[in-house]
This record gives sequence, C-alpha cells and structure tokens, in this order.
Amino acid sequence: MRFEEVVGQKEVKDVLLAQVRAGRLPHALLLAGDTGSGTLALALALASYVMCSEPSENDSCGQCAECVKTDKLIHPDIHFSFPVIKRSSGVTTSDTYLKEWLTQLGSDKYFDLTDWLKVIGTENKQAIIPDDEADNIIRKLSLSSYEGGWKVMIIWLPEKMNGSAANTMLKTLEEPTPRTLFILCSEHPEQLLSTIISRTQRIDVPPLSTDDLSEALMERRGLDRDTAVAVARVASGSWLKALRQLCDADDSKAMLQSFIQLMRLAYMRDLAQLMHWSDSMAALSREQQKAYLNYMQQMLRENFIYNFGRSELNYMTPQETDFAYKFARFINERNIKQFTEEFAHAQRDVVGNVNSKTIFFNLALKAIILLRA
Ligand SMILES: [Zn+2]
Repeated sequence: MRFEEVVGQKEVKDVLLAQVRAGRLPHALLLAGDTGSGTLALALALASYVMCSEPSENDSCGQCAECVKTDKLIHPDIHFSFPVIKRSSGVTTSDTYLKEWLTQLGSDKYFDLTDWLKVIGTENKQAIIPDDEADNIIRKLSLSSYEGGWKVMIIWLPEKMNGSAANTMLKTLEEPTPRTLFILCSEHPEQLLSTIISRTQRIDVPPLSTDDLSEALMERRGLDRDTAVAVARVASGSWLKALRQLCDADDSKAMLQSFIQLMRLAYMRDLAQLMHWSDSMAALSREQQKAYLNYMQQMLRENFIYNFGRSELNYMTPQETDFAYKFARFINERNIKQFTEEFAHAQRDVVGNVNSKTIFFNLALKAIILLRA
C-alpha cells in the first residue's frame, strides 16, 4: 500500500512523512478517526514507507523486495492485532483469524467492524481483542526483526482490547524496544485507557473532504463529475460510505430492471418469458429475493401515488420516474391493495423456504390478472 493509494488525507500524509524523514517517528502512533476516512490505509502506507529500501521523498517505491512483501501482506516484520470472536475452547488470538484478515485486507483496506464480522461469519457476537492476544503481541515484538530494520505492530480498534491485553500493551508502550513502531487505528480513542493515550502520539484523521471524495470517485470509479459530487456529499467524509452508495445504486438498477421486466411480460401475458423471469429470481439468494420484493412493493406504491400528479410525494430516481410515466396508470385503486398483498405474501413464502421458482411464477400469474383489473 502506497500513500498514493490512500484517498485524500494530504495533511496527515505530510505529517507522517515529515516525521519519518526527520527520523522523529514516535514509537507509538494513534491514528484517531473512522476507518472510512482511511486510518487503516494510512497505517499500511506508513508501514510500507518505513520498510521500503528505496523510498522517494513522498512514497514507498512499490517495487523493491520489501515493498513486494508488504504489498502481498507477507512482510515478516509487519504484525496485526484486531478484534475477533472468542472461540469457546482453546486459545483465541488475532492469529486464529489471520487468514480471513489477510484476505479482507488484500481485497480492500476500507471496511468497518460490521464488514469484518461478516467476513468471520459472526455478525451477532461481541468482537474483542482477547486476553490471549497480550502474549501474542509480546512474543511477536520480542523477536528481533527478520530484515534487521523496523518492526511494526498495527492494532486495529485498540478500544476493543480486554483489560489484561490493554495492560500488557501499556507495559510494552512504557518500555519500548528500539525500532518498534506501534500504529493504533482507533475509531473511539475516548474508550482507551488514558495511560495508553498518554504514551502515544495522537494524529487525528478527519473525515474526507467532499472534493477529495469526488476526485477519487471520478479517478477510481469512473463517475462523471455531477454524480461523483452527489455521492460524495451523502458519504459524509467516508470512502466506505461512498463505495456503499455505488453498490446500492447498482442493486437498485438491477431491481428496477427486474420490476420492469415482470410488469411488461405480465402485461403481454408472455408465459414463457415469465417462466424465465421466475428462474432468474429463484437464482438469487433468499436475502436478495427479500430485498427485491421489498423494492417492488415500494415501486407499486410509488406508481400508485404518481397518478395523483403530486411529485413532492414521490421518491423515485429519474429512471424509475421514466418508467412510471408510462406504467403508473396500470396501478390504481382497483388493484393496489391486492398487488401489495401478493408481494407481501411472496415475501413470507421466501422466509418460509417455499420453493422459489413456484413463489415467483405464482406471483407472475397474479400480476397478469391484477394488471387487467
Ligand atoms: Zn520499496
């Protein structure tokens, strides 16, 4: 990870680079801010920079043997500690989930605790940095560095540390070993022990500016300026939230297409194609099916309301409005109630694990009848 790849945060980058260049890097840094503003990405970029054997003034080279190892997340002197779910038996440390962690980091450096819990498949449990982790950290840092240079320990969400892990951490911070760099990426520094905070140098990582976000959306995601600015405004300083909006936008496009398809085919009474439509719906996961049915119920309501000509009551995208322009008249007081009920019924069947193809083909048949009501 090079500084260049971190979205925005020029001022934070400048502070960090100036410290390394002046040889004044503290032994413990506290990067305080949202993961969505880039704390973890910055920690990795800094780790790469101190490891790089041919750094330029502003970035790691990205090509030397050290950089290759850092990039592949296999540098033996870069360690990670992060919240996990304690296993019911045996010792649980970050290493228990190291494989999942490296896979996540390898695919994206911007994610939050909820994303991480999804990766380790335990969304409803409390994540902590468990007591067992203390020994793990000490052991890793007591080894001399493999490459004879720095040892870096990146701790993501140190506020999730259990009491004894935090105390061990504190001892390590009190008696720092030379050329050891702790980088704490904290979203809630106010929850850290004050004794830990006082032994770190705190650097606040602010929310990203709308300009930085929209630039990055244009450069990295190929958005046009207007769309990029619109997405950036809603993202409230978080690259993570910006990316999520893009996913949601893709999802709703697909949902709208599916809704249009269903209504057109039902209007034409094209049973063969409706069978294809039900198959494509059945191929989605149950969660997706629920989301599609939710969306379609909302579209039915929006189309019904569209008929009243009061645009302030409608919440539709331009594409949805385009379709409503021609279609809305088919959703009226004669069929809206039953239409919505049929979709709600389908949703209950999805939850109840009824055969998906049957659910959606039945729904398509109902749509044929109701459109003629
Ligand atoms: Zn390098």
